[in-house]
Amino acid sequence: MNIVILSRNPGLYSTARLVEEAENRGHEVEIIDPLKCDIIIEKEKPTIYYKDRYLDYVDAIIPRIGASVTFFGCAVVRQFEMMNVFTTVSSDAIIRSRDKLRSFQRLSKAGIGMPKTVFTNYSRDVEEVLEHVGGPPVIIKLLEGTQGLGVVLAESKNAAESVLEAFNGLQARALVQEYIAEAKGADLRALIVDGQVVGAMKRQGKDGEFRSNLHRGGTADLIKLTEEELKLAIKAARALKLPVCGVDMLQSSRGPLIMEVNSTPGLEGIEGATQKNIAKAIITFIERNRK
Ligand code: ADP
Repeated sequence: MNIVILSRNPGLYSTARLVEEAENRGHEVEIIDPLKCDIIIEKEKPTIYYKDRYLDYVDAIIPRIGASVTFFGCAVVRQFEMMNVFTTVSSDAIIRSRDKLRSFQRLSKAGIGMPKTVFTNYSRDVEEVLEHVGGPPVIIKLLEGTQGLGVVLAESKNAAESVLEAFNGLQARALVQEYIAEAKGADLRALIVDGQVVGAMKRQGKDGEFRSNLHRGGTADLIKLTEEELKLAIKAARALKLPVCGVDMLQSSRGPLIMEVNSTPGLEGIEGATQKNIAKAIITFIERNRK
């Protein structure tokens, strides 16, 4: 097969591993920077031009679209979809997953447990907002933040007020969320491929840090998920129509809660912690779907 990895950075661990495993399994694989593609639209002949050629020979794509290039990156993914090329995640699902509010709305409709969350139109009535989620401490999150940036723990009403004022002043939309203290700065990441959990790890924030993101200095360890956690992760991936994704959960006193579903999960942390070949699982998923 001709497999294209849509990625801006060939040097990234995840990109390099996908190339390695695709080649190991005898595929032709190419890394293409989606921002360098021209999307050509005309009646019944959707095409993509890249460098000096048309990408009309591609069997499958693996989108690794960064948050800062969602718009154009997803337009390229959509164009491949129009050309009947198999994609591990659809353009619509990537776009949906990038908006935390939109994702939460869908997850809640699907009956999936999550920290109680409130979203307002830059409300100044902080007291009322805090009441909706049981009062401080609360978590305040920018709608489109990544890697733990733009996630704040406000321990008092005053702190929440100043953070919300600052975000509101910048016209940056934010969610206010119940703080799950029992999670103790840790979260669970389940890696989903083909709708199944293929690996899981527990990430722990460094001392004094409530955020467990590996980019923020957190550490990752192999973990065996409970039946409840497995089911929840699979259900969340299904609700967001993401056959390949990373599902982040918090362990709360009322059971696992979904925090986020990531459509471009990094492979380094999870392969390191689990010693599993996740990149290969992604390639064999493609093989099963696109012969
Ligand atoms: P990002 O998308 O920027 O990674 P997350 O929503 O995943 O943002 O939050 C970053 C980290 O903050 C999480 O990995 C988790 O450790 C912590 N965190 C997020 N929300 C909560 C919450 N409601 N209660 C407790 N900790 C949280």
